[in-house]
Amino acid sequence: MSAPILVVAEGSDGRLGGPTLESISVARTLGGGPVIGFATGRAANELASDFGRFGVDRVLIVPNLGSDAVPVGVHANAVAFAADHVGADTVLFGGSIFGRDLAGHLAVRWNAAVATGVIDARRDGAIVEVRRPVFGGRATETRRLEGPHVVLAIRLHAFAAPSEDPGTPLVDVVVPPPVLPALLAPRRTSVEPSTAGAGPSLGDASIVVSGGRGVRAAENFQLVEELAASLGAAVGASRAVTDAGWRPSSFQVGQTGRSVSPQLYVAVGISGAIQHLVGMLSSRVIVAINSDPSAPIFRVADYGIVGDLFQILPALTAEIRRVRGS
Ligand SMILES: Cc1cc2nc3c(=O)[nH]c(=O)nc-3n(C[C@H](O)[C@H](O)[C@H](O)COP(=O)(O)OP(=O)(O)OC[C@H]3O[C@@H](n4cnc5c(N)ncnc54)[C@H](O)[C@@H]3O)c2cc1C
Repeated sequence: MSAPILVVAEGSDGRLGGPTLESISVARTLGGGPVIGFATGRAANELASDFGRFGVDRVLIVPNLGSDAVPVGVHANAVAFAADHVGADTVLFGGSIFGRDLAGHLAVRWNAAVATGVIDARRDGAIVEVRRPVFGGRATETRRLEGPHVVLAIRLHAFAAPSEDPGTPLVDVVVPPPVLPALLAPRRTSVEPSTAGAGPSLGDASIVVSGGRGVRAAENFQLVEELAASLGAAVGASRAVTDAGWRPSSFQVGQTGRSVSPQLYVAVGISGAIQHLVGMLSSRVIVAINSDPSAPIFRVADYGIVGDLFQILPALTAEIRRVRGS
């Protein structure tokens, strides 16, 4: 029988998050052995049950990592131990920051071939072949990862969640050996939340509305925020906006800001400089609103509206609110 595939849980309020659901889908279609869930932290038991909602019938729990703030190397140690415990040859993570970070640490710890940002994966004998965007989304590469161990982090929103297939999984508690003191050394001393817009967080929102210098002043940025609110979207910005101090740097999308890959990205008054594009080019659908028909953003946009944002945004927001009844 083929070796199992371990899917590492990330969630909130005891529910598996979207990135983990997407990796369950990949594990199902990848081919190979059975899919086994992995959960740790305070909500490990709830996450284990939630795996059952999607037909995963076995889950490993490591209950005693200490706290949710332990360094990522400690998580990697626990995942490697659990993977060896069941003889897994492949470990899958969602495309969150946590998943990508942990994938790298696990690969070193577990001596595995690793790929992140995966948009397609298939097994070819002992080899896992993956496709993933490179050069800021301007090309897609194919890589062949040879075992015995393979670690993949899936690109956010690149796969649909699996359909529900409720059941009660068999839960095994596994206890890894104590980690070296050096792994525990980087202790968290404080957490300062970054300033973020209202609505979903930029990193994992399925819709992002970003504003650029075209909005002209800090107070006008609220037009962008109102459009975002009408769509239930996260708010982003170009660097021109954050450099001007109209919004904090945590809003910035691009080379020196956040990378996003939502289902829908709306760029308002943004010219489309390459440093902005590399942070959003892998969005599924791009809509640009700009008064300059020759703005580079239109070269990457699926839909373009040429016009004055001060006329378009209020009308668009009002129409979306009307259609959505909000
Ligand atoms: C090393 C480096 C790193 C960088 N990193 C980033 C990064 O991470 N993210 C980033 O965004 N940039 C980054 N930049 C900056 C980048 O090069 C651009 O300067 C920046 O993206 C421009 O922002 P913008 O499109 O908002 O402004 P502009 O280029 O000034 O474009 C404003 C747009 O608004 C349009 N407009 C004006 N008025 C209206 C109106 N009334 N209605 C509709 N449209 C209107 C204009 O036609 C224009 O296209 C970086 C640059 C460097 C050198």
